[in-house]
Amino acid sequence: MGDVAADPRRRVPRTDALLADPRLAAAATAVGRDRVKAAVRRAQELARRGEITPEAVRDAALAALPAPGPRAVLNATGVVLHTNLGRAALSPAAVAAVTAAAGHTDVELDLRTGRRARRGRDALDALAAAVPAAGAVHVVNNGAAALVLAATALAADAEIVVSRGELVEIGDGFRLPDLLESTGARLREVGTTNRTTLDDYAAALGPRTGFVLKVHPSNFRVTGFTSAVPVRRLATLGVPVVADIGSGLLAPDPLLPDEPDAAGTLRDGAALVTASGDKLLGGPQAGLLLGAADLVERLRRHPLARALRVDKLTLAALAATLADPATPTRAALHADADALRERVERLRDGLAADGCKAEVVPAGAVVGGGGAPGVELASWALALPERYAEPLRVGDPPVLGRVVRGRLLLDLRCVPADADDTVRAAVLRVPGDG
Ligand SMILES: *Cc1c(COP(=O)(O)O)cnc(C)c1O
Repeated sequence: MGDVAADPRRRVPRTDALLADPRLAAAATAVGRDRVKAAVRRAQELARRGEITPEAVRDAALAALPAPGPRAVLNATGVVLHTNLGRAALSPAAVAAVTAAAGHTDVELDLRTGRRARRGRDALDALAAAVPAAGAVHVVNNGAAALVLAATALAADAEIVVSRGELVEIGDGFRLPDLLESTGARLREVGTTNRTTLDDYAAALGPRTGFVLKVHPSNFRVTGFTSAVPVRRLATLGVPVVADIGSGLLAPDPLLPDEPDAAGTLRDGAALVTASGDKLLGGPQAGLLLGAADLVERLRRHPLARALRVDKLTLAALAATLADPATPTRAALHADADALRERVERLRDGLAADGCKAEVVPAGAVVGGGGAPGVELASWALALPERYAEPLRVGDPPVLGRVVRGRLLLDLRCVPADADDTVRAAVLRVPGDG
């Protein structure tokens, strides 16, 4: 106390010393000296205010610099599929497949005959094999593209009959009805927000009907006085039913009994199912189309299909994901709460040994925008004061938690088990209260 030399603020490294650091010098070459200087000044200021330690100034300046491309982060939010964090994390097998496919590949060539072959046949064959109930399959850029292709190819000058309770906003201001109407299809809305019956659909059918659309409410729930018509009954109407199941489950998951799966939805009579590749399937961003062979062939042959074509990296990641569905997404969803608790306790004890006090608290993890809006997964989190949130977020690597009632919760459910020490080191870099 009162010892000026011990004041950490006096130990903030000088600008010229920082600019001589090899990593900051390299950054100056890449993004310009002025930007690096500005980042250095901001980091020094954080240290003078006591928000980071003097030792963390260099890393904070580096972290504040524009990095090429998206940065890898640790997802300790407890949200398994976080759209802002890129939804599903790919499995090691999928990552290896992407790396292998990054050079020249046989994506559209048969090596035995030397002739052109069906693009992405490995991924398409694996998808077809995973869902034998589908007569044919196709893959496009994302779930939204799958719907746009279906609407364009099957209802461009016709009507799509859809319940008012299913005209959803996907996120970031994008809305399904706008997306569908952008194709030239007309929406024939039936029923009400909370209740739609089979008769509502039947009364709307006519010569202009292209198809009936069923949209799974993957990011919200309506409860109370409600009724919706399942695909099984819509399939009795005598027109094709297109089902947007969103989540991308290919087969049922007992953990998520309310999430529709592609196989079950096709067995219930859907002519076509659309889904995302980077939600519960745990694969790359992609739009999956599965269904009657003649419909899928019409989609595949439509000129728009060429504009929605997926690249070789996506196809490689999808094929690998389907070959070995033990994805990080599945591991996070099915993580055992007791095992999570032990990991968090070990983290707490490790921090305590270094003089950082934290608590282990129960927490509810969620699936996220990818599906199962009502489901809470029993979980455990490390609780720290809220002031840890920002330094952890801007650190290297960034660690993202969830602020709940004035505390930062770090849920390890979606953090790879071999990254617990990285989390511990990141927490210890945040200066204590003392
Ligand atoms: C996620 C979702 C979409 C959009 O899929 P993207 O892959 O994000 O384009 C469409 N419909 C439903 C029901 C969804 O859950």
